[in-house]
Amino acid sequence: MVRDPLFKPLALALALALCLTACGGSGVGGGVGRERLLADHAGQEPPVSTITPEATPAPEEPISTDGPAGPSGAADGSAIPAGYEAWGPGQVVEHLFFHPVIAYPQWAFHECPASQSQREGLDDWMVTVDEYNKILQSVYDRGYVLVDINDVWKETVDENGQARMERQTLAVPAGKKPLILSFDDTNYYDYMLEQGFTSKLVLGEDGEIWAQCTDPYTQETFLTQDLDAITILDKFVREHPDFSPWGAKGCLSLTGYQGILGYRTQTDRTLPDSEQAAWEASRQQERKAVAPIIQRLKETGWTFGSHTWGHIRLSTQSMESVRQDTERWLAEVGSLVGETKILFYPHGARPDGDHDQGEAGPMFRYLQEQGFRVFCSVGVESYSKIKSDISAVICDRLHPDGTTLRWQRKRYLQFYDARDIMDTAVRPDLGYRWDD
Ligand SMILES: [Zn+2]
Repeated sequence: MVRDPLFKPLALALALALCLTACGGSGVGGGVGRERLLADHAGQEPPVSTITPEATPAPEEPISTDGPAGPSGAADGSAIPAGYEAWGPGQVVEHLFFHPVIAYPQWAFHECPASQSQREGLDDWMVTVDEYNKILQSVYDRGYVLVDINDVWKETVDENGQARMERQTLAVPAGKKPLILSFDDTNYYDYMLEQGFTSKLVLGEDGEIWAQCTDPYTQETFLTQDLDAITILDKFVREHPDFSPWGAKGCLSLTGYQGILGYRTQTDRTLPDSEQAAWEASRQQERKAVAPIIQRLKETGWTFGSHTWGHIRLSTQSMESVRQDTERWLAEVGSLVGETKILFYPHGARPDGDHDQGEAGPMFRYLQEQGFRVFCSVGVESYSKIKSDISAVICDRLHPDGTTLRWQRKRYLQFYDARDIMDTAVRPDLGYRWDD
């Protein structure tokens, strides 16, 4: 049985003031301005959900989805099994990230009750289910295999007793190339329910992860593994186990302000005292409900990282607000998903004046002290740099989405050809340039 959280107009309005789906930021040339969506989402009206799922529908078919066990040896390259080869610290590990994928593109781009600029935001930052399927197929065909970001860099203690991060030698099947995938804002925000996305992850009767989805045209609610980035990747790996020789899937980048994975596990400090008890009771139910989902995701190769509680822009926040936000993330999200060393910067915005050279600044140091070691931004290549003065790595990720499909085809040719991927029939007519 699936429960809807209580609907709280005030809380939602405040939350939606923070509700910024764009995670991109630095270093993107050409295409559409990254600031636009941020302004748009700040003004978005809280959607009123009419969805009241009655019961968890039966899955279409029972499937076992335990990840492949992998060969004997170690993903981190400490022992290279036969048929594998070392991918050394000097070799780039590519990193792509996605937002939730658009399940109903015609609805999202043209028919949903969102403003024109909000729909263009979806075009900027998301890919459709069809595009995502083609991208997975293409990176697979081009010889990439999935690796766990937690295996790529590890903390070691140097001869002076200092903890430092170190790029690991990875073991990859001969002729293959390692690839990290991450997925930002896998929280299933309220506004997405109205814009043609799946609405939460659930366990099917087969014990596997399914996505709950409501058809925006018929309001029928059903379970699917074909309309959500997470379940699609699970399915792809089941069908192509050699895509994930060590069982890795992707890292889910979670905020906390509307709970996680479609469960409203957040506290709400805006409610009057008289409503706090009811909210807390609902929240605890949601925490209980999401626990087995987290467990199953971990068993099947998924890991978790922080995207800050409030999707805050670390380049402009005060130290005190970052401290409060981090404590809240650890209390409300970290307490559910467990320890993580991965932090995905919202908007790609780095703290301490956006620098990544020289000594770590005070905010970066604070975040590192909270356990984060791998700090992921967004950029034009899979850049990474191990900090020399503190145990931390900073890295950039590439972003398959409307902006890069339209305007950065050449940069992504090592993964896919945008000309074969972009659904020009359903996307709005906003142009593209195949020779860039
Ligand atoms: Zn984000």
